[in-house]
Amino acid sequence: MKAIEFNKTVIFRDNYPVPEPQSGEALIKIDLAGICNTDLEIIKGYMNFSGILGHEFVGRVVKINGDRQELVGKRVTGEINCPCKECEYCQKGLYTHCSNRSVLGIYNRNGCFADYITLPVDNLHIIPDSVTDEEAVFTEPLAAAYEILEQVNIKPDDKVLILGDGKLGLLVSLVLNQTAADVLLAGKHEEKLGKVEDQGVKTILPENLEISKQYDIVVEATGSAGGFEFALSLLKPRGILVLKSTVAANKEINLAPVVVDEITVIGSRCGPFKPAINALEKKLFNVKPLISGIYKISKAKEALKLSKTKGCLKVIIDFND
Ligand SMILES: [Zn+2]
Ligand SMILES: [Zn+2]
Repeated sequence: MKAIEFNKTVIFRDNYPVPEPQSGEALIKIDLAGICNTDLEIIKGYMNFSGILGHEFVGRVVKINGDRQELVGKRVTGEINCPCKECEYCQKGLYTHCSNRSVLGIYNRNGCFADYITLPVDNLHIIPDSVTDEEAVFTEPLAAAYEILEQVNIKPDDKVLILGDGKLGLLVSLVLNQTAADVLLAGKHEEKLGKVEDQGVKTILPENLEISKQYDIVVEATGSAGGFEFALSLLKPRGILVLKSTVAANKEINLAPVVVDEITVIGSRCGPFKPAINALEKKLFNVKPLISGIYKISKAKEALKLSKTKGCLKVIIDFND
């Protein structure tokens, strides 16, 4: 099968063996896969991963080894953390924190930039007919945006600021703007801001932000090391700082404001798939303007190249010929 492998360098394979589903796993034919910043970080050495890249996908179940044969033929996406179901965290249902987990295309498990993948059947979610493949491929990053609502109780009179107009910042703004709170997205690129402005999100260029401690909640999604301290300068005392970027950077950070202003810092990663799929089904917002390009697998090199360019949003690889 065709596959995009990373082993110190990116290798485009067309003879990779089709995987065999283990007990409790499904074999899935990939239709579309999304390129994520995490993939680009991995290519730079993050996580020391080697194997097939990719973790955002929509596909069709072709085979199941074990129960739930009714899923064969269904259009699905899948949660990326594959838990052991035995450790202390799994016992508490904290599967995304399983200490023995493998993670699709990120840690100890081949990813979805391939014609076929295997995943535990329990990880799969059926995509409703009214959700297109192009929309469904956003489920995983959208779930990461919904994780914030799992972690933080946003009250109707809260002032919420999102920093960063990359893919995740835009998705977070669309999700949080569904609440009654006063939500503002700050980003450097007017063109990107326009994609959510059309959908009712208030936006601002960072240089126009009044630097005062006026926000109850700030979501840091810039992916830059400076975002943390900038966020602290904008949060009210007792405010909440949600960290959404995993920047692989070592920067000295002054934590004094966290203590003085008694700021709650919350790390936020993978989220629940069900609300993300529900939101797509209910058409709460439109993710399609966030697509910068869709490339056939034969043009995967161009797809990766485009995804690394400045100003680029979601690039999708199409595995159907
Ligand atoms: Zn991702
Ligand atoms: Zn576990």
